[in-house]
Amino acid sequence: MRPHTKAFSFNDYHVIGFDLDGTILRYNLDEVVPMEHELLCRYLVEHKGYSNQLLAFLDKPCEMDFLQKGLFLDAERGNVLKLDNNGYILKANHGTRTMTDSEISNAYGCERKWSVTLQFINDPLCAWNGPLAEKMRSLLDYFDISVSLVFAHAIDEIDAKRKLNNTTDQSPYNVWADILEALIHIYTRENFSNGKSGYFEKIKSQPDRYLLKTSPVVIDWLRKLKESNKKLFLLTGSHIDFANFTASYALGENWRDLFDVVICFARKPGFFHAGREFHQIDGFREADPINLDENLEFNKVYSMGNWKQLQKAFAQSIDIDVSDMRSLYVGDNLIQDVYAPEALAGMDSLAISEEMLSESEESELPNHFKKIIASNYWESYFYEDGVPTLWTHIVAKYSKMCVPTLEHAAAKPIDYEFRMNNEIGFYPSPPVVVE
Ligand SMILES: [Mg+2]
Repeated sequence: MRPHTKAFSFNDYHVIGFDLDGTILRYNLDEVVPMEHELLCRYLVEHKGYSNQLLAFLDKPCEMDFLQKGLFLDAERGNVLKLDNNGYILKANHGTRTMTDSEISNAYGCERKWSVTLQFINDPLCAWNGPLAEKMRSLLDYFDISVSLVFAHAIDEIDAKRKLNNTTDQSPYNVWADILEALIHIYTRENFSNGKSGYFEKIKSQPDRYLLKTSPVVIDWLRKLKESNKKLFLLTGSHIDFANFTASYALGENWRDLFDVVICFARKPGFFHAGREFHQIDGFREADPINLDENLEFNKVYSMGNWKQLQKAFAQSIDIDVSDMRSLYVGDNLIQDVYAPEALAGMDSLAISEEMLSESEESELPNHFKKIIASNYWESYFYEDGVPTLWTHIVAKYSKMCVPTLEHAAAKPIDYEFRMNNEIGFYPSPPVVVE
């Protein structure tokens, strides 16, 4: 390997795991993100007493410019933050209003650092649950990317009310708790089969509108990986009924055959470090648990579970010591799919980041996500004034390579050695550095 470059080959691994949503299965983001945004707003208006005004912003495409993956909510202060790799606040909003430098220093000190996000940078899982999760939220994938916009407009509404009432009320905002309730309603797994979530109902009724078919290049590449005696697994947070619906659409009815084992409702990042039991799946129902010391069978679908037990089963099936087995995980969520497997499970990871497409020199963005992944408001996802953002730092530290889509990796033979011309690990070309 040349100095200051990274090299990577899928051939170096015995076991390769894949995330489903945003990795193997891609969404039509220009359709699905506004739909999620509308459902969140409707929930707040219909169940939490917010004004109809929230819905008025839905018809304005420019509003989508306020979305970017990787933003942080400061729930109590009502702010949205963009951070660099040291936790320095590069840019901040209160509601939809840009904060001035002096407002940022007044709120967070002249260092422009917030103790809660510093804790997150030190240990990204510390804010997953518990008290910090009530103060701060990082928006990490396309399921929650629209939250920053809903949150900001809801904060505006509360500020306007406080002003109207001439109150000097400075009490913490409660908007995030309301949005979390809405997110839980929209994505709760039971709501796929019982029809209670507009999200699942819309995808069920118009899959062509919201989902993309996975490229035949990727499907063929998965087959070749499996034929070359690598063990493949699919690990998704979705319950089996929704995963089956989306994967059947994107990969075909026989999607399960592409993998040696499929794990649904995996509850990442806990899957990689906690010792949850696997459960059998009976039809679309979660059935009996499997003891932690029991052997897993292949060509099956499980629910929940843990990496240690899966790792042991793979090592036995290929007759190798666990310590000699090399495993890779591929996904688009930089904490759940990239940080957690690498930092907590001793795996390697490969990052998928569609944002690379909007920030590379040559690319013309495909229609299905033009509106969503390029933000004129927050600007680059990767750099600000030449300084890497927190997310570029995570990619550099925890992933072996970062590609815009899986197709970029699958276009090469499986024994291809990828050589990157940058030390972060971006392939095929790094995003343009914004000075
Ligand atoms: Mg994903």
